[in-house]
Amino acid sequence: MRSKNLFLATVFVFLGLNLSASADTLYLKAGRMIDGLSDRAIDNPVVRIEDGRIAEVGRNNSLAIPGGVDVIDLGNRTILPGLMDAHVHLTSNHDDKGYRGLIVSLPRAAINGVANARKTLMAGFTTVRNVGADGFSDIALRDAINDGDVPGPRLLVSGPTICGTGGHCDNNFLPKEYNAQADGVANGPWAMRAKVRENIKYGADLIKITATGGVFSKGTTVGGRHFTMEELIAVVEEAHLRDLKVAAHAHGTEGIKYAIRAGVDSVEHASMLDGEAIQLAKDHGTFLSMDIYNTEYTLAEGEKTGALPENIEKERQVGTVQRESFRRAVEAGVKVVLGSDAAIYPHGDNGKQLSRMVRFGMTPMQAVKAATSLNAELFGRAQDVGAIEAGRYADIIAVDGDPLDDISILETVPFVMKGGVVYKNE
Ligand SMILES: [Zn+2]
Repeated sequence: MRSKNLFLATVFVFLGLNLSASADTLYLKAGRMIDGLSDRAIDNPVVRIEDGRIAEVGRNNSLAIPGGVDVIDLGNRTILPGLMDAHVHLTSNHDDKGYRGLIVSLPRAAINGVANARKTLMAGFTTVRNVGADGFSDIALRDAINDGDVPGPRLLVSGPTICGTGGHCDNNFLPKEYNAQADGVANGPWAMRAKVRENIKYGADLIKITATGGVFSKGTTVGGRHFTMEELIAVVEEAHLRDLKVAAHAHGTEGIKYAIRAGVDSVEHASMLDGEAIQLAKDHGTFLSMDIYNTEYTLAEGEKTGALPENIEKERQVGTVQRESFRRAVEAGVKVVLGSDAAIYPHGDNGKQLSRMVRFGMTPMQAVKAATSLNAELFGRAQDVGAIEAGRYADIIAVDGDPLDDISILETVPFVMKGGVVYKNE
């Protein structure tokens, strides 16, 4: 009941403030600010917002607020840029794993996306990348959010993940007579180029491929490499011709190296890194999006979600190794961003990964940047989002206390603004 009331209140706030969103000028003041770019927190920030964008940022009360304007006074709360997640699956739920996924229709998946987009935004995540959805349901969701029909984060979406027959993106659950095949299946360089072109035609913002097997597919191994170099280069070249980034799912060491050498922009999971893979990521400027929270969830709750025994066994193989890889990559100075694989665990818990990123080697400030300005760089959106800086969208969250003292307070975000519109203020 409580969640229903919260939902109604949220809708009211969303609609109510949306109507007045064109109010010319809005000021936001708080006790502290972590702007996503600076190395230190700033006291007594004042932010002037014009038409949904940040127009001016004052520090230490340097920006005077004129009379007669709208002011949101957040007291001694700390403001930060809206959080960003490089790897979510909004159209899936945490409890539709294994064979349960087969009864979820594409229209139902799109409606899942509506519910999960709202949860993600209310958790303080104002921009996320949706990496893989059949039926282009993610594109419909993005457009509905952009049209103001439903609340949600800014979405960058991939459309269907591209993989070979029987790969991690394919439907491997049913016997041959069903001829079940996922939307993104393509084999050989030209078929894969065609698939990239098709995804772009229907509205993809980025391209997602699976360069190795994966934890939650059936019949794949996490170490198995799934593409030839020729195929990988074809996808990367085709995407880059059209200025789209390529996100490559890869767990095994060889698959990671192949993907980096082919020129992908980010490696997702990046579980089994060795020294050479870390050096390659550094040399190529490849981002690593490592989902180091969800292991705990899968090992504790996996059986209840419908996951197959082989899925849980594969999570055991990658979980500990991935966290050690994370520590080494951070230590080496690789660009490691927050990517959480939401849908493996319940949507809205994305912030739980931040404390794990600190536990496994980042400073709290590094973790905040990994979830904001560094993700903005990976997304190709550094002009727009990821920092509290003049010119960028007013995507701003606030928390009680100081995340630099206790990063876990970002798991409970009481204030969320996106594009100058307040979606939550508790
Ligand atoms: Zn994923």
